[in-house]
Amino acid sequence: MNYELNYRDIRDGVARLCADFPGEYWRRCDREQAYPTEFVKALSEDGYLSALIPEEYGGLGLPISAGAAILEEIHRAGCNAGACHAQMYTMGTLLRHGSDAQKEMYLPKVADGSLRLQAFGVTEPTSGTDTTALKTKAKRNGDKYIVNGQKIWTSRAEHSDLLLLLARTTPLEDVAKKTDGLSVFLVDMRDVVGKSLTIRPIRTMMNHATTEIFFDDMEVPASSLIGEEGKGFRYIMSGMNAERMLISAECIGDAKWFINKAVDYSKDRHVFNRPIGQNQGIQFPIARAYSQMRAAELMVNEAIAKYEAGGNPGEEANLAKLLSADASWAAAEACVQTHGGFGFAEEYDIERKYREARLYQVAPISTNLILSYIAEHVLSMPRSY
Ligand SMILES: Cc1cc2nc3c(=O)[nH]c(=O)nc-3n(C[C@H](O)[C@H](O)[C@H](O)COP(=O)(O)OP(=O)(O)OC[C@H]3O[C@@H](n4cnc5c(N)ncnc54)[C@H](O)[C@@H]3O)c2cc1C
Repeated sequence: MNYELNYRDIRDGVARLCADFPGEYWRRCDREQAYPTEFVKALSEDGYLSALIPEEYGGLGLPISAGAAILEEIHRAGCNAGACHAQMYTMGTLLRHGSDAQKEMYLPKVADGSLRLQAFGVTEPTSGTDTTALKTKAKRNGDKYIVNGQKIWTSRAEHSDLLLLLARTTPLEDVAKKTDGLSVFLVDMRDVVGKSLTIRPIRTMMNHATTEIFFDDMEVPASSLIGEEGKGFRYIMSGMNAERMLISAECIGDAKWFINKAVDYSKDRHVFNRPIGQNQGIQFPIARAYSQMRAAELMVNEAIAKYEAGGNPGEEANLAKLLSADASWAAAEACVQTHGGFGFAEEYDIERKYREARLYQVAPISTNLILSYIAEHVLSMPRSY
């Protein structure tokens, strides 16, 4: 399935929905660092957030290419999917590795919007990108696990009922490989929040509803373990490739938004008695960003095609993320420069989108770590860390 050419109806539907959430709406949310509840509700009600949930559980049963089309369209319209995209990128882990009982228990409610699966807890303050060094522990005790530790940058935790959590179940010193002994849990936060689970919001340069969370002898039923104990790193990694592809689609959408804005403005704005877009100094950065975006889009498509054919394309997913984040950033730079002083005025929405686009050089995976993956795993160069 070619994600950039297909799903016309879905794309048109998302564009119509986004038209009800203009820049003014996002500026207000941004100023107040408020969660875009109305926007997320509208997407849920129209079924877009359950696109990847199989039909037997009440979703649309569409492949990841449809999710990419939805997220790209949201960003292309000047909106932001950061408030709700986790429901799509965590889905792969649950669908591929969760039990039938877990799927039956949660997915119909996630599909109808009565339960939110928006939080993903991997990153920790001390270990950062070095995931296998994470310190949060889950210790089996009868039919329960007791969780202790801390996560950081757990986005949307305050606006989610469920948390997909990665924790160590076997101490690092007792495993043959450091990727062993980590397990994934689907935690129902409603039972524990405010008791053994504390959520603290973190204010950031853009509006992202991110938090730090603390587990203090948090009890979770053993039935919340996803797949086999100790194999969680592998499950999370396969989910991360899906996440990279979906985030790449958001970057492509952002790049298209910036490029359209820049082109339109360059034709309207007259300085020295001619449109500024007549100057090659204005044209070239926009044309270059467009070229970068189109090349990145091809790579996103390649990654998605391989994933949908049953593979887990690490190389293509990483390349897609690298190229699309660079393309959106190049487009953001060109857009600000084209607008001159107006690029800094809130009412143009460019400065907001610029701040939002910057995130993708760091999260969900930083550019350096992707380059490092390509050097080591694709080019077979020595491991640097
Ligand atoms: C707004 C926001 C939302 C987020 N949401 C989530 C979420 O929902 N769930 C979640 O689990 N995480 C989330 N994250 C975390 C995000 O995935 C991490 O911030 C990111 O992976 C980088 O990790 P770090 O911040 O710990 O950086 P560090 O690992 O401390 O790295 C800092 C810098 O050093 C570089 N670096 C580190 N090691 C090397 C090396 N060996 N070679 C070269 N360079 C290196 C990195 O590239 C980076 O630029 C979010 C982050 C942000 C900012």
